[in-house]
Amino acid sequence: MTIPVTKITNSRIKEVDWDHLTFGDHIADHMFSSEYLNGEWKNPAIVPFHNLTLSPATLALHYGQSVFEGMKAFRMKDGRINVFRIKKHHDRLTNTLERMAMPPISYDFFAESVKQLVAADKDWVPNAAGTSLYIRPFIFANEARFGVKVAEEYLYLIFTGPVATVFMQPIKVKVERTYVRAAKGGTGFAKCAGNYGGAFYPTRLAKAKGYDQVLWTDAKENEYIEESGMMNVMFVIDGKLITPALSGSILDGITRSSLIAIAKDMNLPVEERPISVTELRSAFEKKIISEAFGAGTAAVVAPIGTIGIDKTDYDLPAYNDNSIMFRLRNKLELIRSGQADDVHGWNTIL
Ligand SMILES: *Cc1c(COP(=O)(O)O)cnc(C)c1O
Repeated sequence: MTIPVTKITNSRIKEVDWDHLTFGDHIADHMFSSEYLNGEWKNPAIVPFHNLTLSPATLALHYGQSVFEGMKAFRMKDGRINVFRIKKHHDRLTNTLERMAMPPISYDFFAESVKQLVAADKDWVPNAAGTSLYIRPFIFANEARFGVKVAEEYLYLIFTGPVATVFMQPIKVKVERTYVRAAKGGTGFAKCAGNYGGAFYPTRLAKAKGYDQVLWTDAKENEYIEESGMMNVMFVIDGKLITPALSGSILDGITRSSLIAIAKDMNLPVEERPISVTELRSAFEKKIISEAFGAGTAAVVAPIGTIGIDKTDYDLPAYNDNSIMFRLRNKLELIRSGQADDVHGWNTIL
């Protein structure tokens, strides 16, 4: 399947300051688009990045059928380009689309759309350590109509942009026991836009109290740890890597899954199981907790320096190059850049 490409006439690539990349400043020259009409994905095309024209009655804006993925392409040591874990991203997208009553996208269509767009903007894939091309596929109901209904028309778009994972100082998080991000039976496992909108207000309240993020707890008892902000969360307690088991309300992070696999490869003990706030507090009191961090595509790992539990702030010990989170992250980077064996078959090299 070859997707027709309309090339941009004036590339914006000269505007990029490659030595000072951050996250989200630049969008590459081209985008992919396809529309769902009469039960079929039609007219796939790679075209110059452009604004959309939408009706005020666009269904996604009113009733929230809008979902996305976040993935990355890396410049390998030998100069080739690697798109990381396309299959796992497609599996998750499939689950997300199903939960939102949106039409599926086949694996081949998804993989080709991502690969051919990245190939069209291959010069935008940066090569410094810690940089990558962020890829944002998303699908929303663009049908214009009022009245609540499952849409019959959708738009599938992808754009990309060069990013750097900037070094993050350890953050301060607050265990959130009043507001919830997601409940069992809801859409917590799905990467849908609405999950984010509802999370901003509790985060703003936590920020007003001097925290950077919230540590979400479960919706039923407000006692079991779920995620850290919009990242999965991991702890090192008693030398074991522990992360909440996927419960339906936790997002199935690809970084989470990759770090667990790498930890097992390194023979580190790994536990995926419920972690209560009580266990966390007791681990601080017994001084057996040595690390806490967020895991997600954007930052890879985000060290946590302090956890506020009810009225008390508990500090984690200082981190260094030997910290498990950095050893896991470094191994992941070696695999993605082609400097360590891709034993799990995660890389798709263009
Ligand atoms: C995307 C996301 C994550 C992280 O998933 P990755 O695939 O590792 O990027 C974690 N939590 C939420 C809520 C997310 O939306």
